Amino acid sequence: MTACDPRTYDHVLVMCSGGKDSVAALLEVLERGVDPERIELWHHGVDGRGEPFMDWPSTRPYVDALGASLGLPVYHSWRDGGFLAEMLRDNAPTAPVRYETPYGERGAGGRGAKGTRLRFPQVSADLRVRWCSAALKIDVADRAICGQDRFLDRRTLVVTGERAEESPGRARYAAFEPHRTDTRAGTRRRRHVDHWRPVHAMTEAETWRALQRRRITPAIPYRLGFGRLSCMTCIFGGADEFATIRHIAPDWFGRLAAYESRFGCTIKRGIGLHALADRGSVFPTALARPDLVAVALSDQMITSVITEHWEMPDGAFRRGGGPV
Ligand code: SF4
Repeated sequence: MTACDPRTYDHVLVMCSGGKDSVAALLEVLERGVDPERIELWHHGVDGRGEPFMDWPSTRPYVDALGASLGLPVYHSWRDGGFLAEMLRDNAPTAPVRYETPYGERGAGGRGAKGTRLRFPQVSADLRVRWCSAALKIDVADRAICGQDRFLDRRTLVVTGERAEESPGRARYAAFEPHRTDTRAGTRRRRHVDHWRPVHAMTEAETWRALQRRRITPAIPYRLGFGRLSCMTCIFGGADEFATIRHIAPDWFGRLAAYESRFGCTIKRGIGLHALADRGSVFPTALARPDLVAVALSDQMITSVITEHWEMPDGAFRRGGGPV
Protein backbone atom coordinates (compact mmCIF):
# COMPACT_ATOMS: atom_id res chain seq x y z
CA MET A 1 0.00 0.00 0.00
CA THR A 2 1.03 3.59 -0.45
CA ALA A 3 1.92 5.78 2.52
CA CYS A 4 -0.88 6.86 4.81
CA ASP A 5 -2.17 10.45 4.76
CA PRO A 6 -4.32 10.56 7.91
CA ARG A 7 -5.78 13.96 6.93
CA THR A 8 -7.86 12.35 4.18
CA TYR A 9 -10.12 10.30 6.49
CA ASP A 10 -13.56 11.21 7.82
CA HIS A 11 -12.93 9.42 11.13
CA VAL A 12 -9.60 8.70 12.85
CA LEU A 13 -10.05 6.19 15.68
CA VAL A 14 -7.00 5.98 17.94
CA MET A 15 -6.99 2.81 20.05
CA CYS A 16 -5.49 4.03 23.31
CA SER A 17 -4.46 1.70 26.12
CA GLY A 18 -2.82 4.58 27.99
CA GLY A 19 0.58 3.07 27.22
CA LYS A 20 3.33 5.29 25.85
CA ASP A 21 3.19 3.81 22.34
CA SER A 22 -0.50 4.45 21.85
CA VAL A 23 -0.06 7.97 23.22
CA ALA A 24 2.86 8.52 20.81
CA ALA A 25 0.65 7.21 17.98
CA LEU A 26 -2.01 9.76 18.91
CA LEU A 27 0.57 12.56 18.97
CA GLU A 28 1.78 11.51 15.51
CA VAL A 29 -1.81 11.81 14.25
CA LEU A 30 -2.01 15.33 15.67
CA GLU A 31 1.39 16.31 14.29
CA ARG A 32 0.36 15.18 10.81
CA GLY A 33 -2.28 17.91 10.88
CA VAL A 34 -5.45 15.85 11.25
CA ASP A 35 -8.48 17.96 12.14
CA PRO A 36 -9.08 17.22 15.87
CA GLU A 37 -12.82 17.19 15.11
CA ARG A 38 -12.26 13.88 13.29
CA ILE A 39 -10.21 12.19 16.01
CA GLU A 40 -11.66 9.86 18.66
CA LEU A 41 -9.83 8.03 21.44
CA TRP A 42 -11.09 4.48 21.96
CA HIS A 43 -10.20 2.67 25.16
CA HIS A 44 -10.97 -1.02 25.71
CA GLY A 45 -11.54 -1.82 29.38
CA VAL A 46 -9.90 -5.20 29.98
CA ASP A 47 -11.95 -5.79 33.12
CA GLY A 48 -15.20 -4.52 31.68
CA ARG A 49 -17.18 -2.56 34.23
CA GLY A 50 -16.53 -5.06 37.02
CA GLU A 51 -14.00 -5.24 39.84
CA PRO A 52 -10.40 -4.68 38.72
CA PHE A 53 -8.75 -8.03 38.06
CA MET A 54 -6.00 -7.41 35.49
CA ASP A 55 -5.89 -3.72 34.63
CA TRP A 56 -4.55 -0.77 36.61
CA PRO A 57 -7.53 1.10 38.07
CA SER A 58 -5.79 4.39 37.18
CA THR A 59 -5.64 3.62 33.44
CA ARG A 60 -9.19 4.56 32.55
CA PRO A 61 -8.97 7.95 34.35
CA TYR A 62 -5.60 8.54 32.66
CA VAL A 63 -7.09 8.01 29.19
CA ASP A 64 -10.07 10.21 30.09
CA ALA A 65 -7.66 12.94 31.23
CA LEU A 66 -5.60 12.55 28.06
CA GLY A 67 -8.71 13.14 25.97
CA ALA A 68 -9.80 16.09 28.10
CA SER A 69 -6.32 17.66 28.02
CA LEU A 70 -6.15 17.44 24.22
CA GLY A 71 -9.81 18.31 23.61
CA LEU A 72 -10.67 14.89 22.11
CA PRO A 73 -13.68 12.66 22.82
CA VAL A 74 -13.03 9.33 24.56
CA TYR A 75 -15.24 6.31 23.87
CA HIS A 76 -14.97 3.29 26.14
CA SER A 77 -15.74 -0.26 25.13
CA TRP A 78 -15.53 -3.59 26.90
CA ARG A 79 -16.76 -7.14 27.03
CA ASP A 80 -19.33 -7.81 29.75
CA GLY A 81 -17.55 -9.26 32.79
CA GLY A 82 -14.18 -8.50 31.21
CA PHE A 83 -11.16 -10.74 31.53
CA LEU A 84 -12.46 -12.66 34.54
CA ALA A 85 -15.75 -13.72 32.92
CA GLU A 86 -13.96 -14.78 29.75
CA MET A 87 -11.40 -16.78 31.72
CA LEU A 88 -14.14 -18.53 33.72
CA ARG A 89 -16.19 -19.39 30.64
CA ASP A 90 -17.41 -22.96 31.08
CA ASN A 91 -19.52 -24.39 28.26
CA ALA A 92 -20.88 -20.90 27.61
CA PRO A 93 -20.70 -18.35 24.77
CA THR A 94 -18.39 -15.40 25.06
CA ALA A 95 -20.17 -12.42 26.67
CA PRO A 96 -21.59 -9.49 24.68
CA VAL A 97 -19.53 -6.42 23.87
CA ARG A 98 -20.62 -2.94 24.99
CA TYR A 99 -19.40 0.26 23.44
CA GLU A 100 -19.99 3.96 23.83
CA THR A 101 -20.93 6.01 20.78
CA PRO A 102 -21.80 9.67 20.19
CA TYR A 103 -25.44 8.52 20.48
CA GLY A 104 -25.21 6.45 23.65
CA GLU A 105 -24.18 2.96 24.68
CA ARG A 106 -24.71 -0.01 22.36
CA GLY A 107 -24.22 -3.78 22.63
CA ALA A 108 -23.31 -6.61 20.26
CA GLY A 109 -22.62 -10.33 20.28
CA GLY A 110 -23.15 -12.81 23.09
CA ARG A 111 -24.87 -15.47 21.01
CA GLY A 112 -21.81 -17.29 19.67
CA ALA A 113 -20.76 -20.90 20.08
CA LYS A 114 -20.36 -22.32 23.56
CA GLY A 115 -16.83 -22.91 24.77
CA THR A 116 -14.69 -23.44 27.84
CA ARG A 117 -11.51 -21.64 28.89
CA LEU A 118 -10.85 -22.15 32.63
CA ARG A 119 -7.25 -21.08 32.28
CA PHE A 120 -5.23 -17.92 31.90
CA PRO A 121 -4.19 -16.81 28.42
CA GLN A 122 -0.90 -18.48 27.58
CA VAL A 123 2.25 -16.56 26.69
CA SER A 124 2.33 -17.08 22.95
CA ALA A 125 2.21 -15.20 19.65
CA ASP A 126 -0.83 -17.34 18.78
CA LEU A 127 -3.92 -15.26 19.62
CA ARG A 128 -6.05 -18.40 19.98
CA VAL A 129 -4.20 -19.36 23.17
CA ARG A 130 -3.18 -15.81 24.11
CA TRP A 131 -6.88 -15.05 23.95
CA CYS A 132 -6.94 -11.84 26.03
CA SER A 133 -5.88 -9.45 23.24
CA ALA A 134 -8.31 -10.97 20.75
CA ALA A 135 -11.32 -11.29 23.06
CA LEU A 136 -10.91 -8.09 25.06
CA LYS A 137 -9.46 -5.63 22.58
CA ILE A 138 -9.39 -6.68 18.91
CA ASP A 139 -12.88 -8.20 18.73
CA VAL A 140 -14.31 -5.43 20.91
CA ALA A 141 -13.03 -2.77 18.49
CA ASP A 142 -14.23 -4.71 15.44
CA ARG A 143 -17.75 -5.04 16.82
CA ALA A 144 -17.87 -1.37 17.77
CA ILE A 145 -16.88 -0.37 14.22
CA CYS A 146 -19.22 -2.83 12.50
CA GLY A 147 -22.13 -1.88 14.77
CA GLN A 148 -22.09 1.83 13.94
CA ASP A 149 -23.72 2.97 10.72
CA ARG A 150 -21.87 6.28 10.94
CA PHE A 151 -18.86 4.47 9.44
CA LEU A 152 -20.79 3.26 6.37
CA ASP A 153 -19.84 4.92 3.05
CA ARG A 154 -17.12 6.85 4.86
CA ARG A 155 -13.35 6.59 5.12
CA THR A 156 -12.15 5.56 8.56
CA LEU A 157 -8.61 5.16 9.85
CA VAL A 158 -7.88 2.89 12.81
CA VAL A 159 -4.63 3.85 14.56
CA THR A 160 -2.74 1.53 16.93
CA GLY A 161 0.63 1.78 18.65
CA GLU A 162 2.57 -1.43 17.94
CA ARG A 163 6.30 -0.96 17.34
CA ALA A 164 8.54 -3.32 15.37
CA GLU A 165 11.26 -3.05 18.01
CA GLU A 166 9.02 -4.71 20.60
CA SER A 167 9.11 -8.23 19.23
CA PRO A 168 9.69 -10.30 16.07
CA GLY A 169 5.91 -10.83 15.85
CA ARG A 170 5.21 -7.11 15.87
CA ALA A 171 8.07 -6.47 13.43
CA ARG A 172 6.09 -8.46 10.88
CA TYR A 173 3.03 -6.20 11.14
CA ALA A 174 2.43 -3.86 8.22
CA ALA A 175 2.66 -0.16 9.00
CA PHE A 176 -0.38 0.48 6.80
CA GLU A 177 -2.98 -1.96 5.47
CA PRO A 178 -6.75 -2.43 5.12
CA HIS A 179 -8.36 -3.02 8.51
CA ARG A 180 -10.14 -6.28 9.33
CA THR A 181 -13.51 -4.48 9.24
CA ASP A 182 -12.96 -3.02 5.77
CA THR A 183 -15.73 -3.80 3.27
CA ARG A 184 -14.88 -1.29 0.54
CA ALA A 185 -15.19 -3.95 -2.17
CA GLY A 186 -18.51 -5.30 -0.86
CA THR A 187 -21.96 -4.70 -2.25
CA ARG A 188 -23.76 -3.90 1.02
CA ARG A 189 -22.78 -2.11 4.21
CA ARG A 190 -19.70 -0.72 2.55
CA ARG A 191 -17.12 0.93 4.73
CA HIS A 192 -13.56 1.91 3.87
CA VAL A 193 -11.40 1.21 6.92
CA ASP A 194 -7.60 1.32 6.94
CA HIS A 195 -5.23 0.42 9.75
CA TRP A 196 -2.20 2.62 10.41
CA ARG A 197 0.61 1.96 12.88
CA PRO A 198 2.37 5.33 12.87
CA VAL A 199 5.00 4.39 15.49
CA HIS A 200 5.87 1.03 13.93
CA ALA A 201 9.39 2.16 12.98
CA MET A 202 10.00 4.29 16.07
CA THR A 203 12.48 3.42 18.78
CA GLU A 204 11.43 3.52 22.41
CA ALA A 205 13.53 6.68 22.88
CA GLU A 206 11.55 8.37 20.11
CA THR A 207 8.22 7.53 21.72
CA TRP A 208 9.35 9.00 25.03
CA ARG A 209 10.60 12.11 23.22
CA ALA A 210 7.17 12.49 21.61
CA LEU A 211 5.52 12.55 25.05
CA GLN A 212 8.18 14.91 26.39
CA ARG A 213 7.72 17.35 23.47
CA ARG A 214 4.02 17.66 24.24
CA ARG A 215 4.67 17.66 28.02
CA ILE A 216 2.41 14.67 28.53
CA THR A 217 3.09 12.87 31.75
CA PRO A 218 3.35 9.09 31.30
CA ALA A 219 0.78 6.86 33.01
CA ILE A 220 1.62 6.35 36.69
CA PRO A 221 2.76 2.68 36.51
CA TYR A 222 5.73 3.78 34.38
CA ARG A 223 6.80 6.05 37.23
CA LEU A 224 6.72 3.08 39.61
CA GLY A 225 9.14 1.18 37.37
CA PHE A 226 6.87 -0.80 35.09
CA GLY A 227 8.04 -0.80 31.48
CA ARG A 228 4.73 -1.66 29.84
CA LEU A 229 1.02 -0.95 29.99
CA SER A 230 -1.82 -1.94 29.83
CA CYS A 231 -2.58 -4.71 32.33
CA MET A 232 -1.01 -4.47 35.77
CA THR A 233 -0.81 -8.26 35.95
CA CYS A 234 -0.05 -8.76 32.26
CA ILE A 235 0.76 -12.36 31.41
CA PHE A 236 4.02 -11.09 29.89
CA GLY A 237 5.17 -9.61 33.23
CA GLY A 238 8.54 -10.78 34.52
CA ALA A 239 9.84 -11.68 37.99
CA ASP A 240 10.38 -8.07 39.10
CA GLU A 241 6.93 -7.02 37.94
CA PHE A 242 5.22 -9.83 39.85
CA ALA A 243 7.44 -9.27 42.93
CA THR A 244 6.32 -5.64 42.88
CA ILE A 245 2.64 -6.51 42.43
CA ARG A 246 2.83 -9.00 45.30
CA HIS A 247 4.26 -6.19 47.43
CA ILE A 248 1.87 -3.39 46.48
CA ALA A 249 -1.33 -5.40 45.95
CA PRO A 250 -1.01 -8.68 47.87
CA ASP A 251 -4.73 -9.55 47.74
CA TRP A 252 -4.81 -9.00 44.03
CA PHE A 253 -1.72 -11.14 43.53
CA GLY A 254 -3.21 -13.82 45.80
CA ARG A 255 -6.38 -14.02 43.70
CA LEU A 256 -4.36 -14.72 40.57
CA ALA A 257 -2.22 -17.32 42.28
CA ALA A 258 -5.37 -19.02 43.62
CA TYR A 259 -6.78 -19.28 40.09
CA GLU A 260 -3.52 -20.85 38.92
CA SER A 261 -3.98 -23.54 41.60
CA ARG A 262 -7.65 -24.03 40.74
CA PHE A 263 -6.95 -24.45 37.02
CA GLY A 264 -3.88 -26.60 37.57
CA CYS A 265 -2.28 -24.41 34.92
CA THR A 266 0.04 -21.47 35.56
CA ILE A 267 0.25 -18.25 33.57
CA LYS A 268 3.87 -18.99 32.69
CA ARG A 269 4.41 -22.53 31.65
CA GLY A 270 6.55 -24.35 34.19
CA ILE A 271 6.49 -21.82 37.04
CA GLY A 272 3.78 -20.49 39.33
CA LEU A 273 3.33 -16.83 40.23
CA HIS A 274 4.72 -17.14 43.77
CA ALA A 275 7.89 -18.86 42.58
CA LEU A 276 8.26 -16.29 39.82
CA ALA A 277 7.86 -13.39 42.25
CA ASP A 278 10.40 -15.00 44.60
CA ARG A 279 12.99 -14.63 41.85
CA GLY A 280 12.36 -10.91 41.41
CA SER A 281 12.97 -7.66 43.28
CA VAL A 282 10.41 -5.00 44.11
CA PHE A 283 10.94 -1.82 42.07
CA PRO A 284 12.67 0.76 44.34
CA THR A 285 10.16 3.51 43.55
CA ALA A 286 7.28 1.20 44.49
CA LEU A 287 8.98 0.73 47.87
CA ALA A 288 9.82 4.39 48.39
CA ARG A 289 6.62 6.06 47.12
CA PRO A 290 3.49 4.61 48.72
CA ASP A 291 1.71 7.82 47.67
CA LEU A 292 2.39 7.04 44.01
CA VAL A 293 1.37 3.40 44.51
CA ALA A 294 -1.94 4.59 45.95
CA VAL A 295 -2.59 6.79 42.91
CA ALA A 296 -1.74 3.95 40.51
CA LEU A 297 -4.21 1.69 42.30
CA SER A 298 -6.96 4.31 42.43
CA ASP A 299 -9.72 4.94 39.91
CA GLN A 300 -10.06 8.57 41.02
CA MET A 301 -10.43 11.16 38.29
CA ILE A 302 -7.20 12.69 36.95
CA THR A 303 -7.64 16.34 36.03
CA SER A 304 -4.84 16.75 33.46
CA VAL A 305 -1.95 14.83 31.93
CA ILE A 306 -0.05 17.96 30.95
CA THR A 307 2.95 18.67 33.16
CA GLU A 308 5.45 21.55 33.37
CA HIS A 309 8.12 19.25 34.84
CA TRP A 310 8.43 16.28 32.54
CA GLU A 311 10.73 13.50 33.79
CA MET A 312 11.74 10.23 32.21
CA PRO A 313 9.93 7.57 34.29
CA ASP A 314 11.77 4.76 36.06
CA GLY A 315 10.09 2.20 33.82
CA ALA A 316 11.57 3.68 30.62
CA PHE A 317 13.80 1.29 28.67
CA ARG A 318 12.99 -1.51 31.07
CA ARG A 319 12.74 -4.97 29.58
CA GLY A 320 10.25 -6.79 31.76
CA GLY A 321 8.55 -9.19 29.42
CA GLY A 322 6.59 -8.14 26.38
CA PRO A 323 4.71 -9.34 23.36
CA VAL A 324 6.13 -12.13 21.23
S1 SF4 B 1 -1.82 -6.28 28.53
FE1 SF4 B 1 -1.18 -8.44 28.69
S2 SF4 B 1 -2.77 -9.51 29.91
FE2 SF4 B 1 -3.61 -7.52 29.26
S3 SF4 B 1 -4.74 -7.97 27.39
FE3 SF4 B 1 -2.67 -7.35 26.74
S4 SF4 B 1 -1.44 -9.25 26.61
FE4 SF4 B 1 -3.35 -9.72 27.76
